[in-house]
Amino acid sequence: MFADYHVHTEFSDDSVYPMESVIQDAIHMGMDEICFTEHVDYGIKEDWDSGKEIRWRNGDPIANADYPSYLSKIQEMKEKYGSKIRIKTGLEFGMQIHTIPQYEALFARYPFDFIILSVHQVDNLEFWTQDFQQGRSQQEYNERYYQEMLSLVKAYKNYSVLGHLDLIKRYDNAGIYPFQKTRSLIKEILSTVIADGKGIEVNTSSFRYGIKDLMPSEEILRLYLELGGNIITIGSDSHKPEQLGAYIDETKQRLKEIGFQSFCTYEKMKPVFHEL
Ligand SMILES: [Zn+2]
Ligand SMILES: [Zn+2]
Repeated sequence: MFADYHVHTEFSDDSVYPMESVIQDAIHMGMDEICFTEHVDYGIKEDWDSGKEIRWRNGDPIANADYPSYLSKIQEMKEKYGSKIRIKTGLEFGMQIHTIPQYEALFARYPFDFIILSVHQVDNLEFWTQDFQQGRSQQEYNERYYQEMLSLVKAYKNYSVLGHLDLIKRYDNAGIYPFQKTRSLIKEILSTVIADGKGIEVNTSSFRYGIKDLMPSEEILRLYLELGGNIITIGSDSHKPEQLGAYIDETKQRLKEIGFQSFCTYEKMKPVFHEL
């Protein structure tokens, strides 16, 4: 069972990969199932139909996925390619505590198969630009990041898995922050996720960023297993052709070595288990 559960296309503001090309490429590589997870980042990006002015950066709109066109394109693609590959409807919610009401409204508007809950910004400050980390110590920004994630999983339940759980690591100029220092926060996050019947994703983009560890780290994955967690999705976080479906086999192997037996796909927000 070959599935990619974190895929961006032209409907995300940071990708120009046409959805139909993604599907054709996925079929060529023998993929059985693909789940599109376009970006939504309330607080820093506008909806196309918000009535507010869309800002642009280097020729790209700073906007959330255009939901009506996205959903109708998926429908069209299912009709055209449905006999060759299973296509699922997802979104990647880049959530913050103050944007929860907007996500509740969006989730209620459409039928989704799968929602990734990601933390890309805190207090509308982005990690990749260092705006969030600036003026904080390494301890402060790491703790604030996991604190935001913990508050989110306690307050918001309409999601499937937590995306790239230790993403803050990628943008940490001070180096790797020791797991032990945030272990108790991460443990509380994972316990909440498990108690709610949710899961976590393994994001294979760590391979292309040259990180030796998995994302989340093996330490986090072992803790998740120890706490009884067994819902895991695997996604490439692809934005370009060379990233689609990448390192999924390697990730499955690593998960087996850690002690997991299965991974999940999703159907109408319910996990479906497959042997690793
Ligand atoms: Zn993300
Ligand atoms: Zn993503």
